Amino acid sequence: MARLARTAGLTDIQQEILSTVRDFVDKEIIPVATELEHRDEYPQAIVDGLKELGLFGLMIPEEYGGLGESLLTYALCVEEIARGWMSVSGIINTHFIVAYMLKQHGTEEQKEYFLPRMAAGDVRGAFSMSEPGLGSDVSAITSKAVKDGDEYVLNGQKMWLTNGGTSTLVAVLVRSDEGHPEGTAPHKSMTTFLVEKEPGFGEVRPGLTIPGKIDKMGYKGVDTTELIMDGLRIPANRVLGGVTGRGFYQMMDGVEVGRVNVAARGCGVAQRAFELGVQYAQQRHTFGKPIAQHQAIQFKLAEMATKVEAAHAMMVNAARKKDSGERNDLEAGMAKYLASEYCKEVVEDAFRIHGGYGFSKEYEIERLYREAPMLLIGEGTAEIQKMIIGRRLLEEYRFQG
Ligand SMILES: Cc1cc2nc3c(=O)[nH]c(=O)nc-3n(C[C@H](O)[C@H](O)[C@H](O)COP(=O)(O)OP(=O)(O)OC[C@H]3O[C@@H](n4cnc5c(N)ncnc54)[C@H](O)[C@@H]3O)c2cc1C
Repeated sequence: MARLARTAGLTDIQQEILSTVRDFVDKEIIPVATELEHRDEYPQAIVDGLKELGLFGLMIPEEYGGLGESLLTYALCVEEIARGWMSVSGIINTHFIVAYMLKQHGTEEQKEYFLPRMAAGDVRGAFSMSEPGLGSDVSAITSKAVKDGDEYVLNGQKMWLTNGGTSTLVAVLVRSDEGHPEGTAPHKSMTTFLVEKEPGFGEVRPGLTIPGKIDKMGYKGVDTTELIMDGLRIPANRVLGGVTGRGFYQMMDGVEVGRVNVAARGCGVAQRAFELGVQYAQQRHTFGKPIAQHQAIQFKLAEMATKVEAAHAMMVNAARKKDSGERNDLEAGMAKYLASEYCKEVVEDAFRIHGGYGFSKEYEIERLYREAPMLLIGEGTAEIQKMIIGRRLLEEYRFQG
């Protein structure tokens, strides 16, 4: 699609990376995505291709073997990939969040140990905050770490780990009372542990079980799992940043860039839905003309394209703000909220344009229709985004009277 979702002011390198990724998406992802998704099959060949392109190290600094690119470059690549198949962007997202958290908060030893292998895609990251009893309310985490000599013993159950089976490094947020007496504010008594494990299911390390894949309505291909810790022993040097009690802030920092990523995914899926809708509307005839010539359908296309443009602009703005070193929680929250809502609406309109055929598994829009809802939930629901946006606005526009 030539005209929509263009980004002004990109460098030559950014343009080159994006055109390579777009080419890869058109040739290697779109032709196979729907078939793999229907089989819930992990897209190993696509992942190998992304590894070769260096996508797993896109934002990892060059000194650790990555490409040292900006959040904007990353987000634009994610947008392209999600246009091809949202699940593939999910495979790199948690990896990217863990690499970002290591880069920002890791000790030098942790960075040197993990980042070069993460840049090569040999170590692959997952991140784990949610539990069966909580997702939005992270402060209610019950999984616990207790110090025992030079190690910590972790117990508890985690839920909804994207890449839980395929990853080999999980950043796990747990409560750690050590040094933080009873009554300490919840967000000051949490710690992120860097948990290495074998890929696969079952007992992947003594004390650590990944039971199996959760069967989902969409977002298939990528594995989403539970994680059970039962006396899992982790050495003290695998506390992210080397100091306990900072986990909540580290995770929130990671989620903030993750929100730009989810916004970018919403943009990509919406773009694809628009492409499918505008093509179909010109092929299908009713009452003697292509349905695109009925004003009601043209209005739908106009609304869809406007939403694609608006979401893209907000996503780019949020990424650029973070790249400039400024706090971007407001912009990231707005971009994630808007892009995911618009994505759902654009997909629904493209589905309606397809008439009965949209309900057939032979048409790509059927897959997109099952994928879009995930974006309303992941990295914080719409309600949580609005809480973040509202709080931040009241800080900015404090009544002075
Ligand atoms: C496919 C998939 C992949 C995921 N991957 C990961 C992952 O990799 N790592 C991870 O840690 N988590 C992951 N998650 C979990 C995800 O982050 C949570 O599902 C999400 O944060 C919502 O939490 P919840 O499901 O517990 O809903 P709840 O928090 O129980 O919320 C239920 C409803 O109540 C609303 N609500 C909650 N609190 C408030 C409030 N204060 N005011 C108004 N409304 C409120 C919510 O918006 C929602 O509509 C994944 C989820 C899915 C579905």
